[in-house]
Amino acid sequence: MQTFYETGLKPEILESIAQIGFVKPTPIQTQTIPFILNSDKDLIAMAQTGTGKTAAFGLPVLSRIDPYSDNVQTIVLSPTRELCLQITDDLKAFAANLPVKIVAVYGGASIVQQMKELKRGCQIVVGTPGRVHDMINRNKLDLSSISFLVLDEADEMLKMGFKDEMDAILDQTPESKQTFLFSATMPTDIARMAGKYMKKAEKITVGPENTAHKNISHEYCVTAPPNCYQALRRIADINPDIYSIVFCRTRIETKEIADRLISDGYNADSLHGDLSQAQRDLVMNRFRNRSLQILVATDVAARGLDVDDLTHIIHYHLPDDQESYIHRSGRTARAGKSGISIAIITPGEMRRLPFFERQAGAKFIHRPVPSGKEVFEKRLFNFVDSISDAQPKGYDLDIYMTEMMNRFGSLSKEEIIKKFMSLEFNRYHADYQKAPDLNVATGGERKQRKDRERDRDSSPRRAGSGQFTRYTINLGSKNKLKPDTLISIINRQTPDIKIAIGKIDIQPKFSYFETDSQHDKHLQQAFNKAKYKGQPLMIQPFMKDANKRKKKREQAGKNKK
Ligand code: ADP
Ligand code: MG
Repeated sequence: MQTFYETGLKPEILESIAQIGFVKPTPIQTQTIPFILNSDKDLIAMAQTGTGKTAAFGLPVLSRIDPYSDNVQTIVLSPTRELCLQITDDLKAFAANLPVKIVAVYGGASIVQQMKELKRGCQIVVGTPGRVHDMINRNKLDLSSISFLVLDEADEMLKMGFKDEMDAILDQTPESKQTFLFSATMPTDIARMAGKYMKKAEKITVGPENTAHKNISHEYCVTAPPNCYQALRRIADINPDIYSIVFCRTRIETKEIADRLISDGYNADSLHGDLSQAQRDLVMNRFRNRSLQILVATDVAARGLDVDDLTHIIHYHLPDDQESYIHRSGRTARAGKSGISIAIITPGEMRRLPFFERQAGAKFIHRPVPSGKEVFEKRLFNFVDSISDAQPKGYDLDIYMTEMMNRFGSLSKEEIIKKFMSLEFNRYHADYQKAPDLNVATGGERKQRKDRERDRDSSPRRAGSGQFTRYTINLGSKNKLKPDTLISIINRQTPDIKIAIGKIDIQPKFSYFETDSQHDKHLQQAFNKAKYKGQPLMIQPFMKDANKRKKKREQAGKNKK
């Protein structure tokens, strides 16, 4: 399925999808949307974090409920308050063009307020098991006529010890409902629970085909943009037996990097779209028979390339999309072997890493660019080892031995070794003795996505650059804006970076928030054309000094003239 239009979702929902900016369904969505729309069976869906599971159930469920009846028709259970809010927010965005009401009930917030919201009526309740159970016990929530029960991150809910609450909640739901269980893994207790509560559930698993191979070690190093080429050389140098594809983004870059490698003495060549078929075949054959150790290629040119035993996939730059990353890195670690996928990253690209980690389903390991000393030592000992294995091939050295021994005369074994080694290594040493450190500090270990999401609460934090910019946004308490909603909005607009959010101040018609100044440009771009419940959003850096604002206005006036 290529587009959402082919799924059969309601037009109002298709409209919101377009407004949000989703272009095509993710693999899990491709399967679950038509299933939920058309089947009366239960569903067990398994897919990793970050694969779009909220929309995978949210879109078709919204399409099937009756927006004109205020009875609770769907309950979504989710393990944490943060996820609850995130799901609620996502569902509200999907339902932006429908008169659907969605209420979140979760612990750690006023139960009275949530009761009031439930009393007003809604079609969908999203809640944590503890609070939902509580609401049922207080007769504030009636699940006896729901049509759909969604268990999101069911594995997490069980891990967090919500089994009893879940059992109790499920007991309150009618036989006739459909249950959709979403989980990243399928531990035995989930299977047991599914067996107990679900009727002939259909299983949909989206797994290995769009996630990275398990035997790949995903690594990255961080260097300044002008040092990327030198970092590449060091990676090649410290791996004398490297057999690798280096991926570049453009033909020009591909050719340039290959030319530099060749002139620096590497067995390298390039593969890109400007080559004729005959030239391509030639390069490919040389690479296959290992006359070439390094093939520099564009994504397109390397498509369909089947070479086994590659030791390294090197991303000279991260690709534009995560799928390409998976395609690239999947070229190593084939046939049960292991391999390394290493990205040479500039500090500016760091923010994109979590995206790729999610797609690969693996945490990337930070590998410093090898130092000159490390490379030198590695080469030296590699050479020593290769000397032990060396044999004359097809000629006889013995006949020269007497003469050679005479010429070495009184030199000791140590002296001879030193001389041999210096002959080979004087050049390397000249290259590497003053080799600078190519690493750029990354500000400590990055956190996993999960930690990050838990971090994104409303408490002020000081992270990143340490400098905060204050913004105004054209939403306030009159728009029912709360700090949580504002954080969700910011997060939604900036899914690919971790933005530290500082103080939030909600006024009736507008609000203030602070974010890490290093993301100013990105943030302002991200809010360009953003909407909340159909209303265009505007953010503006807040300038304390009214004079500055005046000057800016004047300046703008001048520019117009
Ligand atoms: P999961 O529940 O599987 O961890 P989410 O539902 O939280 O994943 O979605 C992860 C991210 O992907 C969210 O930022 C969401 O907005 C985005 N997303 C979901 N579906 C699509 C899509 N079809 N196209 C683009 N982005 C999507
Ligand atoms: Mg989810």
